[in-house]
Amino acid sequence: MEASEAGFTCAICLDDLPPPPARLPCCGSSSSTIQYCADCVAAVCRNGVGGVGRCPTCRAYFTVDSAGTITQCERQDVCAICRQGRLIVAEHRGHPLCDACHFGRAVPLRYECANCSAVQHIPHPMYRYQRTPHEFGTTSWACHRCGDFTMWRVAQADAARVPAADAPESWGRRDEWLAQVRAQRTAPARGRSPALDFVFVLSFLVSAYYFERYLSALLGISLLFRNELWEAFFLAGVAYERRRRG
Ligand SMILES: [Zn+2]
Ligand SMILES: [Zn+2]
Ligand SMILES: [Zn+2]
Ligand SMILES: [Zn+2]
Repeated sequence: MEASEAGFTCAICLDDLPPPPARLPCCGSSSSTIQYCADCVAAVCRNGVGGVGRCPTCRAYFTVDSAGTITQCERQDVCAICRQGRLIVAEHRGHPLCDACHFGRAVPLRYECANCSAVQHIPHPMYRYQRTPHEFGTTSWACHRCGDFTMWRVAQADAARVPAADAPESWGRRDEWLAQVRAQRTAPARGRSPALDFVFVLSFLVSAYYFERYLSALLGISLLFRNELWEAFFLAGVAYERRRRG
């Protein structure tokens, strides 16, 4: 591929792009065969729980600020919830949170006890210890009903809520994760400009009162194309009212 010789192919969006690729602090050396573009890296963070992204190559945690600077989460500290010295990926009201407590807090899920089948909420990503979504995990947690430290699996009703980015590799959701990131990246920014909306509405009203209703219809259609459905219906009602009276 001659076109990509000077540039690189992003491993997420698969576009051939001009250099430079995004420099991931974890495995982003320029000689790396797997490269990502800056837009995809930012989308990985938007898709990630609480703005924390994971490197698709090595699963390191990172964040991206508004200037596009990528920072790998490397701080080791005592987590405010589990009280263990661990890698800190986020903060809650100024208190450091480890990755497990961050995910457990941000995505609360219910789990089923292997011993008594009770279902309870566990604020820890217990799905990480499950080889498949249906098998019980390999790490214990206290059951409120049978009182034992037992094994758990995510409740069937909550299985779909396990973030694709954080599901174990053996669950086979990697492609789904990257597809989500691609979709996030290409989704049009639904930016509404209040000034433009005002001009649209004003010109519609003026045309409805003083000019032809065909012009009004044209403006109504352009509003529809901007996905402002309720405004379009409202204005269509105004135009209809004008026509009925006139
Ligand atoms: Zn990309
Ligand atoms: Zn990495
Ligand atoms: Zn913790
Ligand atoms: Zn139990």
